[in-house]
This record gives sequence, structure tokens and C-alpha cells, in this order.
Amino acid sequence: MDCQRCGACCAQFRVSFYWAEADDAPGGTVPVGLTETVSPHTRCMQGTWSSQPRCTALEGDVGRHVGCRIYDLRPTPCRQVTAGDAQCLKARAAHGLSAEAPSAST
Ligand code: SF4
Ligand code: SF4
Repeated sequence: MDCQRCGACCAQFRVSFYWAEADDAPGGTVPVGLTETVSPHTRCMQGTWSSQPRCTALEGDVGRHVGCRIYDLRPTPCRQVTAGDAQCLKARAAHGLSAEAPSAST
């Protein structure tokens, strides 16, 4: 199992980050049009602030084949989840996916 056959963490949590990670700030990378405002200093990926979160940048079917449309531009929380860590396993469990040997991070 690897991240490209998973995507559970992109469809489980609110993916929020400091507003200046978006590309309307100097040095920001995340396309601002794919974000929404959480607070004056915080944004999140569109679609993740929901009772059934799913990031707008996630393509494909969770648990089958997925990709991130903005992989190289993704915000900090996406870079911090590591395959096999507690957040990963929580997301996978919520999607009915096994805890066995995910082998690459998002
Ligand atoms: S980090 Fe874990 S939950 Fe996220 S895509 Fe990879 S295997 Fe799935
Ligand atoms: S930006 Fe990419 S890695 Fe981050 S939650 Fe969305 S689809 Fe997943």
C-alpha cells in the first residue's frame, strides 16, 4: 500500500495552515483559489472544512488510485503526514483501509 493508492488523509481532516502559505503572499505556494478562509491568519484547503472532508486538490478514488493536483505546492500539514504515523493510520481506519505497511508519504 502506498499513498498513491490511498489518499485517506486528504479526505479526513481539516487541512489548515498559516494564510501566507498561499500564493497571494510573497513566497507562498498554495493556489489561493483552492483555499478558504478559516480566520484572519488561517486558511484551509477547500473541501476539508466539512463534516465529510475531501480536499479539492485530490484526484481519483480514495483507497484505489489518487493524486494531488498541487503536490509540489501543497501546504505544510500535507508535508507533515507520514505514511504509518498516527494521523495516517487514523485516516486510513476511518476509510476502512488497513494499517499495514503504507510505504510513502503524501
Ligand atoms: S500518509 Fe497515510 S493516509 Fe495519507 S495517503 Fe499516505 S498512506 Fe494514506
Ligand atoms: S493539497 Fe494535496 S496533499 Fe494536501 S490534502 Fe489536498 S490533495 Fe492532499
